[in-house]
Amino acid sequence: MLTSIVGINWGDEGKGRMVDLLSEDYDVVVRYQGGNNAGHTVINDKGKFILNLLPSGILRDTVVNVMGNGMVIDLKHLCGEMEKLVAAGISITPDNLKISDKAVICMPYNVLQDGLEEQRLKDKKFGSTLRGIAPIYGDKYLKKAVRMGELFNMDILKERLKGIVEWKNLTIEGGYKHEPVKYEDMVSYLEEYGGKLKKFVCDTSLFLDDAAKSGKKIMFEAQLGALRDIDFGIYPYTSSSSTISAYAPIGSGIPNHKLDKAIGIMKAYSTCVGEGPFTAEYFGEEANKLREAGGEYGAATGRPRRVGPFDVVASKYGVRVQGATEIALTKLDVLSGYEELEVCVAYEMDGKRYTEFPFTDVLDKCKPVFVKMKGWNCDISKCRKPSDLPKEAYDYVKFIEKATGSKITYVSVGAEREAYIKM
Ligand code: GDP
Ligand code: MG
Repeated sequence: MLTSIVGINWGDEGKGRMVDLLSEDYDVVVRYQGGNNAGHTVINDKGKFILNLLPSGILRDTVVNVMGNGMVIDLKHLCGEMEKLVAAGISITPDNLKISDKAVICMPYNVLQDGLEEQRLKDKKFGSTLRGIAPIYGDKYLKKAVRMGELFNMDILKERLKGIVEWKNLTIEGGYKHEPVKYEDMVSYLEEYGGKLKKFVCDTSLFLDDAAKSGKKIMFEAQLGALRDIDFGIYPYTSSSSTISAYAPIGSGIPNHKLDKAIGIMKAYSTCVGEGPFTAEYFGEEANKLREAGGEYGAATGRPRRVGPFDVVASKYGVRVQGATEIALTKLDVLSGYEELEVCVAYEMDGKRYTEFPFTDVLDKCKPVFVKMKGWNCDISKCRKPSDLPKEAYDYVKFIEKATGSKITYVSVGAEREAYIKM
């Protein structure tokens, strides 16, 4: 059984929380793209954790976790993340964590470059997480990146790195007029942190292929949502990798296998971190109320998230590009304090109505069309079966299901592992 857990919206849908819940039945959890710009919050019997690089399955004793070739890995950050978990009593060994030899290393100069570029852009900034993600994916495709497997041959790596640092300084020093990156510093960085992580590095493609062929259950954990995918998202306000389901087998190392299930994680309202068109956005008091109710501050960065009501147009598109075979609707409890709820059912631009997600330049000018629905205005966080839900909440779920053409199989009503309803 190969299952992906992917975001339908702009990210922060609660993917980590659903991976933590559903991984009970899985043998392996794989992260297949992105880096430490992810922030997956998990609350369970072991405590509260924010995971940036490690797969959310790391919190289960029975799960083997894989960091796939599609990822970009900040070595120092990963060491820090592991130390925190170990201090909290989580065991991390080469038996339950395997890092792909083909995963790319996000270097300190990539983080520097990210910051220099945001500074240069000033008020036109992209809203980067400043973790070096765009620069390192750029380097990967320019074939100027270092991969985890190279740590085993430091002599060869050092030779290559010399050329890469020289090339990088054309940008850092030549372009941004910043102090150049020192080659020796980069070597010691790789030696220090790479040295600590080397024991986890292996051919994860072979490991996963064997696991899949022997009938093991594998879960693929996405970072960010469909609308941040490099191809299908709100480019250029996207992440720099493929967040979609179809990429999961590739970014994990088993392109020869097909997914059996794609579980789309869809939020009961909309949130978006950073810049870019966000048609259903609320402002002022309305926004504050929803942001506070949902605790909508970035898990990786602490930034306040932009918020708005559920967006049918964007979510329907998300369901399609993710090929979601079922949906987990999250954070329904957050909408409990409303007599009346709004849902964005279409966009409008120059008198034209859009019900299919438009190209970004049209999207920029679109205004939302809202319909009103009855709220339930009571606590639903203790509901554990569909019949526990007030009629208005049940109707809201069914409305979203129909409007987005998806099948909602889980509804989550709290951040804790057990706070969910199987529909
Ligand atoms: P991810 O990036 O998709 O894993 O999501 P994040 O962890 O960034 O954001 C989701 C936030 O909502 C986290 O703080 C979760 O603890 C919290 N959360 C998840 N599901 C629920 C839910 O059903 N209700 C409430 N109130 N909070 C939830
Ligand atoms: Mg997040």
